Amino acid sequence: MMIVMKEGATDEEIAHVVERVEEIGCSAHVSRGEVLTVIGAIGSKEDRVADLGLEAASGVDHVVPILKPYKLASRQFRKGQDSVIEVDGRKIGGDNFGLIAGPCTVENRDQMMASARDVAAAGATMLRGGAYKPRTSPYSFQGLGREGLRLLSEAGEETGLPVVTELLDLRDIDDVVEVADVIQIGARNMQNYSLLTEVGRSGKPVLLKRGLSATVEELLMASEYVLKEGNEDVMLCERGIRTFENAYRFTLDLLAVPALKEATHLPIVIDPSHAPGRRDWVEPMALAAVAAGADGIIIEVHNDPDKAICDAAQQVPSDTFGELAGKIDAIAQVVGKTVSKA
Ligand code: PEP
Ligand code: MN
Repeated sequence: MMIVMKEGATDEEIAHVVERVEEIGCSAHVSRGEVLTVIGAIGSKEDRVADLGLEAASGVDHVVPILKPYKLASRQFRKGQDSVIEVDGRKIGGDNFGLIAGPCTVENRDQMMASARDVAAAGATMLRGGAYKPRTSPYSFQGLGREGLRLLSEAGEETGLPVVTELLDLRDIDDVVEVADVIQIGARNMQNYSLLTEVGRSGKPVLLKRGLSATVEELLMASEYVLKEGNEDVMLCERGIRTFENAYRFTLDLLAVPALKEATHLPIVIDPSHAPGRRDWVEPMALAAVAAGADGIIIEVHNDPDKAICDAAQQVPSDTFGELAGKIDAIAQVVGKTVSKA
């Protein structure tokens, strides 16, 4: 249920509603908009909110059910307003576009630094790099782990870019939280609910990737696990799903952009790299994502992609990335967005 407060409702009136909601065993999520404050009463006992008579409480305007199974993620909960997530001065959401770039994997100091310098010079707003890699084969390189985090952090500091990195396993959460400005939850972990709950509690912004065979609604339900812990900074990421089509690695589902925009206030990010699996197809997908109205893209860029340990075929050479970044910038402007730099 959603309790919409009157314009100018006081802190005491809001606290009173929160108390009543919590008394019946629901959790209360207060969302303060520019004009109105909304309180989401969430939980398995939600039906009992209707019996509280909150319509008559001081400061309350009206009480309405949230119609979708995802509650805090639903566009209705934010009264139609887009969420804007700010990471170190860079914004994603609303009119702000985020350009996240960097190598698939942190391989060594020279590779990480060279790639980071190039993407920063090209105008990226955040730096990506995986220290823990989810590989199909257990015999493939699994990432540098803590050493990878250290190198990523060094590259982030030198370039001034916030860093995005994947948390694969709950056992590494403290190490990842220490370094990451945004925690990536990979496609294979989209429904790892204990991991989602813990990143929710960490309070760090989260980039949640859509599972390989997950529906749009399942992605939204997964985001709810993070949001329910009081962490409002969640970005949803489409990265390609499994279909019957085998002419490329995955099917990049760009219809997820308008569909998610209608369903949720959360920013939508597209990963144009993993579905094509080859670099000449990455640019058209990146540009199409911007045109479709995505709030950001996360793209794999490497200083010497042919020698990359992981995902070599799809990584864009960093010395050509500036050209692509320029086109992204131009299309973003056409759809009314600005690449958000600090
Ligand atoms: C990645 O971003 O490098 C990655 C492993 O992504 P995904 O979880 O989408 O496969
Ligand atoms: Mn990759």
